[in-house]
Amino acid sequence: MKITLFILSFFTLSFISGSEINYEVSMPEPHTHYFQVKMEISDFEKEYVDIKMPVWAPGSYLVREFAKSVEDLSAKGNNKELQTEKVDKNTWRIHSKNAKNISISYSVYAFEMSVRTSFLDASHGYFNGTSIFMFIEELKNNPISLEIIPFKDWKKVSTSLTKVGDFKYTAPNYDILVDSPVEIGNHITFDFTSAGVLHHVAMYGEGNYDIEKLKIDMAKVTQAATDVFGENPNKEYTFIIHNLTNGSGGLEHLSSTTLQVNRWTYDEDSYKGFLSLVAHEYFHLWNVKRIRPIELGPFDYNNENYTDLLWVMEGFTSYYDELLLYRAGIYSEDEIIGKFKGSINNIENQPGNKVQPVADASFDAWIKAYRPTENSYNTTISYYTKGSVIANMLDLKIINATKGEKTLDDVMKYLYNEYYKKEQRGFTSPEIKKAIETVSGLDLTDFFKNYIYGVETFDYPTIFGYAGFKIETVLNQKPSFGVRLSNNIIKSVTRNSSAYDGGLNVNDEIIAINGYRVNDNLIDFIETKNVGDNVSVLISRDEIIQTIEFPLKERGNTYYYILKESKEMNTVCKKWLRQL
Ligand SMILES: [Zn+2]
Repeated sequence: MKITLFILSFFTLSFISGSEINYEVSMPEPHTHYFQVKMEISDFEKEYVDIKMPVWAPGSYLVREFAKSVEDLSAKGNNKELQTEKVDKNTWRIHSKNAKNISISYSVYAFEMSVRTSFLDASHGYFNGTSIFMFIEELKNNPISLEIIPFKDWKKVSTSLTKVGDFKYTAPNYDILVDSPVEIGNHITFDFTSAGVLHHVAMYGEGNYDIEKLKIDMAKVTQAATDVFGENPNKEYTFIIHNLTNGSGGLEHLSSTTLQVNRWTYDEDSYKGFLSLVAHEYFHLWNVKRIRPIELGPFDYNNENYTDLLWVMEGFTSYYDELLLYRAGIYSEDEIIGKFKGSINNIENQPGNKVQPVADASFDAWIKAYRPTENSYNTTISYYTKGSVIANMLDLKIINATKGEKTLDDVMKYLYNEYYKKEQRGFTSPEIKKAIETVSGLDLTDFFKNYIYGVETFDYPTIFGYAGFKIETVLNQKPSFGVRLSNNIIKSVTRNSSAYDGGLNVNDEIIAINGYRVNDNLIDFIETKNVGDNVSVLISRDEIIQTIEFPLKERGNTYYYILKESKEMNTVCKKWLRQL
């Protein structure tokens, strides 16, 4: 109580006028998966107050309707029960009748173990603010205080929010509050310092990690990321890491990140993949959280926030999440070239790459990338992978055009200095083009038309040629079937494949081919055939047994190899791989 009073008086001094919101989050019965939230609003005298639950979590472009997990909402004004009513899917109207202070309570069901949502069970609690905290539109910029009441014997809370007491925190506004995820429980914590930043790591869940090794390698990665920009805007940064049986992915925040990984990811085979995830989310503290498209902040928490620039935000970040590992001495030259090659082969052999321009992939992320269907592979392209190839192409073009004077790093620095620091706003699509043109001196009109807003194939031989590499392509002429199966049920059919032209459908059950039972050995079986051979496929379609016959086509995939022309690196290559 004393500390709460202290916070109140502190803000009265710092903010002469305006209301403030105090949140309290408790979890008295974690096994039921309910967080209890109390929201107290002071000095906001209105006939009624609308409080809203966000529909999405920034960084993850899907309407998730967090209001669906809210229950038991009630409100009091001057200690009297207030009438409440739901006015749309995520808005509750509190008829506060000019009460000076309002207190609202609700509970939130939290049982989705994802970096973008919230989770509570007997072992720990985790929340991402957008799925827990309601807001009042007019008060989004007002100061906030938060008190967390951990379950019984839970001793630790990890978050990047400013600590002002035991489990008590403040945020200057709602955006910062919900951009600071919180881990609660008895997790393992350790710190390391790199790039002049004190990094806190919160480890939930068992795993085969070695803390001393992590300190060294995470320091290398965070330093390599900071070196791109020449400065790190954080004094402290928090990693919340969930070690799970089935964990994958991360979500970026201003001064923290949450990573979910397989608990055995720290072994020889997959450890570099973990470090690449660290690099990815850490790079976002600049690219997305500070360098951003104009549409991505201040956020509209009630609707989709459309941008056609996710190929810069996620794609460039994906390029750097590999490149930084090379610069940090974690990848060898062969490994980094192998990663770039992998991305190229990935996009060039996906039918959707010739259908959906990457700018459209970005704009439609809300309805396509985040809502994949059985036809997505045929009609869409990942703005992560395609964007990383674009970054690679632009990096080489910039280095070549400036004779090694400039690289994509200089574009990132330019965006950081011009838009984040000087103008303090996001940039538009024409402005990103202009930024790259300013740094490189190139006219990129055709590049944008052909590769960003169009679906042309990059001129790989010329662009890799700048760095002394040659591109070899090999056409896969083996026969191919063209379906993805699960328990013999077709899950997807690749456009223009044998099965596609032959008329097989998603949901068909394949019983036999040419009289042979088929299961996981489908590919082996098809490879014993020749292109042009007819296959007779016995299927069950909606439980009607039928036979479909068609000829096998060649796979037709092109495999790209990036080969070094001489042992010596030329200037472009040295600059590209940062050995100058
Ligand atoms: Zn990302």
